[in-house]
Amino acid sequence: MKPATYPQQAKKRFGQHFLHDRSVIERMLKALALQPEDRVVEIGPGPGALTLPLLARLQRLDVVEIDRDLIAWWQQHPEAQGKLQIHAQDALKLELAPLVQDSSTRLRIVGNLPYNISTPLLFHLLGQRRQIRDMLFMLQKEVVDRIIASPGSRDYGRLSVMIQYYCQVARLLHVGPGAFTPPPKVDSAVVWLQPKAVPELAARDEAAFAALVAQAFSQRRKTLRNTLKPLLSASRIEQAGINPGCRAETLTLNDFVRLSYQLPDAGGNPSGPPDT
Ligand code: SAM
Repeated sequence: MKPATYPQQAKKRFGQHFLHDRSVIERMLKALALQPEDRVVEIGPGPGALTLPLLARLQRLDVVEIDRDLIAWWQQHPEAQGKLQIHAQDALKLELAPLVQDSSTRLRIVGNLPYNISTPLLFHLLGQRRQIRDMLFMLQKEVVDRIIASPGSRDYGRLSVMIQYYCQVARLLHVGPGAFTPPPKVDSAVVWLQPKAVPELAARDEAAFAALVAQAFSQRRKTLRNTLKPLLSASRIEQAGINPGCRAETLTLNDFVRLSYQLPDAGGNPSGPPDT
């Protein structure tokens, strides 16, 4: 008979804080409103606080786990047999396309994420958004504050602009440290992200748009005239209808997209909005 509970101590290097609060788990499951045929990928199943109820509701579940002890434990777990596909690897290298057979299936990504890799993981997943239907994540509250922040707020920055460009976002729950074993030093929150079919206002070149946003926020206290100097002159900034004396934190998402139209194309002219 396999052990009913996971026998090992949580490992700090893998950001392990295991969720035990039943009401938080139930509220996350309710938010997901799963159908048995949904294709779900859980990042970091740990000892299964979310995994076991997910397995009970789904025909198949894919999980990605880096901890070899946990992987070995899941491979023997009686609940896993036949339904659980274990991807024993770093989630930062996970490729989603091979997980779906037909191009119309889109994945639902779920996880109480290891906080030490959450921002690079979000960017890694955004790069594969065409494979994703939605994402429900437990994150450090401070990261969720940044994801949902509006222009003018202290938390508004590169993460807010880039995630809101690609996704609808909603904060669902605030979760205190006592919901986890061991308790983390910070508060947590659950966020829901749904990739947009097309952004409301699309950048012509998304890589150039991303570079512009990163450059604009590279020195928050400085004006756009100064921070964007390597990319855009003050007159180009004005041509986008934006005061070069502003700071990046005052610009809306659409302001950033319009600014990106001023980036020079191969011929050195403003690239302009995409053809409609
Ligand atoms: N889902 C479990 C829960 O809610 O109790 C565990 C959550 S714990 C915060 C994070 C999980 O992600 C752990 O199982 C950890 O081993 C795993 N993990 C950490 N880094 C990872 C990585 N780079 N790739 C895949 N899994 C990782």
